[in-house]
Amino acid sequence: MNILEHRALRGPNYYSRYPAIFMRLDIGELEDRPSDTIPGIVERVTELLPTLYEHRCSVGRAGGFLERLERGTWAGHVVEHVAIELQNLIGFSVGYGKTVDSYDTGIYNVVYRYRDEACGLAAGVEAVDIVARLFNGDDIDISSVITRLKHVRDAHMLGPSTASIVDAAMRRGIPCARLDENSSYVQLGHGCRQQRIQATVTGRTNLISYGIADDKHWTKQVLGEAGIPVPRGCVCHSIDEALEAALDIGYPVVVKPLIGNHGRGVSTDIHDEQALQEAFAIASRRNSSVIVERYVKGEDHRLLVIDGKLVAAARRRPAHVVGDGQSTLQALIDRENQDPRRGIGHENLLTQIQVDEQSHRLIAQQKLTLESVIPKDEIVYLKPTANLSTGGTATDVTDDVHPDVKYTAERIARLVGLDIIGIDLLAETLTRPLEEQSAAVVEVNAGPGFRMHLSPTHGTGRDVGQHVIEMLFPDSEDTGRIPIVAVTGTNGKTTTVRLISHLLRQAGRSVGTACTGAIEIDNHTILRGDYSGPQAAATVLREPTVEYAVLEVARGGIMRRGLGFDECQVGVLLNIASDHLGENDIRTLDELARCKSVVIDAVRQEGTAVLNADDPRVLASREWARGDVIYFSLNPDSQPVRQHVHHHGVAFTVHDGAIVMRQGHVEATVIPVVDAPITFEGHARFNIANALAASAAAYALGLSIADIQLGLQTFHPSPGQNPGRTNLIDAGDMKVLIDYGHNVPALEALSELVSRIPAHRRICVASAPGNRRDEDLFSLGGQLASMHDFVFLCETDPRGRPDGETVNLLRAGAESEPGTCRVEVIMKERHAVDRAFDEAREGDLLVLLIEDIDHATERLRGRRFLPDTTTDS
Ligand code: ATP
Ligand code: ATP
Ligand code: MG
Ligand code: MG
Repeated sequence: MNILEHRALRGPNYYSRYPAIFMRLDIGELEDRPSDTIPGIVERVTELLPTLYEHRCSVGRAGGFLERLERGTWAGHVVEHVAIELQNLIGFSVGYGKTVDSYDTGIYNVVYRYRDEACGLAAGVEAVDIVARLFNGDDIDISSVITRLKHVRDAHMLGPSTASIVDAAMRRGIPCARLDENSSYVQLGHGCRQQRIQATVTGRTNLISYGIADDKHWTKQVLGEAGIPVPRGCVCHSIDEALEAALDIGYPVVVKPLIGNHGRGVSTDIHDEQALQEAFAIASRRNSSVIVERYVKGEDHRLLVIDGKLVAAARRRPAHVVGDGQSTLQALIDRENQDPRRGIGHENLLTQIQVDEQSHRLIAQQKLTLESVIPKDEIVYLKPTANLSTGGTATDVTDDVHPDVKYTAERIARLVGLDIIGIDLLAETLTRPLEEQSAAVVEVNAGPGFRMHLSPTHGTGRDVGQHVIEMLFPDSEDTGRIPIVAVTGTNGKTTTVRLISHLLRQAGRSVGTACTGAIEIDNHTILRGDYSGPQAAATVLREPTVEYAVLEVARGGIMRRGLGFDECQVGVLLNIASDHLGENDIRTLDELARCKSVVIDAVRQEGTAVLNADDPRVLASREWARGDVIYFSLNPDSQPVRQHVHHHGVAFTVHDGAIVMRQGHVEATVIPVVDAPITFEGHARFNIANALAASAAAYALGLSIADIQLGLQTFHPSPGQNPGRTNLIDAGDMKVLIDYGHNVPALEALSELVSRIPAHRRICVASAPGNRRDEDLFSLGGQLASMHDFVFLCETDPRGRPDGETVNLLRAGAESEPGTCRVEVIMKERHAVDRAFDEAREGDLLVLLIEDIDHATERLRGRRFLPDTTTDS
């Protein structure tokens, strides 16, 4: 078997509404060997992966997949089920999958759900190997497969603290995006409603406060001056200073780096000069400034305050083992480390105990060695500090905090000024006020770990991530989302996206736009190029000012990666026409319609699908719409529109020369068609359709009819407002139409306009993307010839075809067209444009279906047809 393509579809996609892994798999000779020809395969698979029994598959009951296997199914389908089960076995619960044969024999499209992308992909690779071995009767070592997958999981998963916040966000329905594969920097929500976290630091965590927490001496100063008990001490830069300080403070003392964490370099309970010297050496290795302070007797407590409220408290004990009267210390440590909760670093609930320099010192102090047998119930501490990261344990004591202690903790959070703060408090107990006991705050932590609260070794776990979400999104209904408008179809997407953005901006909204021309944030073009895929969507949704995202959704992005968002407020489906057929296993218009209707399927229940009622395939996509539907149509008498309006559905159509909104018995005039410049006084019917679609989308977003009217009135088909799309420029004695139609349906739409512009001769420059089918390029050539008197053909984007092949197919099509059109091939677009300008005479119309519009506008300026300052017509 051979994996031909393998990637994650990160949003709703052709195969599923949810993120899924796509694998194009060549099963080779196994095409002739379905599972029923492999003796004992069911028994073997059941032995390897007993839980596969749960897979219902198409049969619809447990054991269903095994029945299919028994009756006979192909290897690709088995890969799907194994990939799903492998993910379940490493703790990612997934169920959905589907395998479809492609147009090529032996090649299957295998699709299965994932939670973690890297794990999903790795599970697929392992599944292919397992299934190949199954079908060939080779050995399979399933436990090492699982171990490998767990490694992938542990390398990619968010740590428990970040995960607890992300989980709480997802429960609320807040979209979460990891902004960096290998860090805990996460975006919660979209656009202007988003919040960001990096582990347990939020976008609002105060930097000054962070600085205070980072400097233990400064912290003690801030708290001490406010009357909160802190250990007396000072900062030293030499051992002499430290010795002097210890004498002044009085032994026992603690020595630790001024700036540090995870208990590194901290030595406690120091009773004499010799120990102090050792401790100073350890601490000063980390930081040249060393704190010497009074040793406070008491147990280690961690108080977690979020948004000014104490939400959890834990008592922590340093890493230790308890003797059993038989085992050596080493054996006890090994046994402790076998606890499955103990992982490496912060990835797991508890951390493995590493025997280091500090441990050896403590063991020696207790007059023991690793070979000593520890008496029953005797506790041997292995670390001086209680950090979980060095193997410590924690007990939840949240419900045992005295109100005075609670008040003090919350006051500390205010004094330091941190929204999330972990307070390290040494005290005998939290059940009594601090002044009645030996107690002091030794430090406070910005970005504290949550592990000890989420899953304490003893006591109740606390869902502290939820508190972070409640702080960042105080309104319990808030899901951090902004309205997303997604526009798809074969033709008119960019125009409609720009128009919708314009309507919103005119109405005073802050808009982020991504389309095949550019990404625009507010009124600024931030990137130029083809931005119609999920990456572009993510870029817009990351922008902190954006109130509305208007996104062009092209076929390629849907097939390659899925949508870049899980749901949208408004989905617009403009039309389904022949273009791109033959790519990504989409060969028919119905398949293309299924691809584009992914956008309609992604419209949220409270949202609106805007559908072209004049296109039967668009109309049929209604079945995918969960929320409201608004129709648009050039034909006011269309049966589906009348019916929809009759049932009080909303429709935008044209009546008596005006764009109108209809619902029930109401008809509201939006604007006379002639007053909307983009319609070319009604001659560009395709742009009337686009204007209807844009009006419907704006209406669905709550814009008023008056807002829509103003927007349509002020949107010009000019190089400034809609660059390269139907820009008609009056160039003195001739006219120039710049456009980017590059499929037959788009040109058919354009030809109506071209034929209505009075002209002596119609001269065209055109090319086509090389990834279209031969027959499409041929008919495109024919269509160009039928519309013009003279066509200059060039080549801009061969996309894998040998140079000249694309243009020759266009030429062949053009020359096959009956009529008198002259055809000339000039490979470079610029040269072709120059030639066309040279050829044009008074009264001619130049139709430039080109990519490089800057060159053309330059030519126009050179001939003094365009004023230098503005590009608007
Ligand atoms: P972390 O980042 O994990 O909180 P840290 O490196 O910042 O650790 P501290 O919190 O200052 O270091 O100290 C670590 C531990 O050392 C404390 O939790 C406590 O157990 C002990 N400790 C620190 N200062 C004192 C003190 N004055 N008296 C007694 N024990 C202390
Ligand atoms: P692309 O797939 O290249 O990104 P698009 O869908 O974004 O195209 P536009 O760039 O808006 O479409 O328009 C491209 C051309 O298609 C226009 O210049 C026009 O010739 C034609 N066109 C625009 N709207 C329509 C429509 N509603 N129906 C048919 N043709 C259209
Ligand atoms: Mg600490
Ligand atoms: Mg486009």
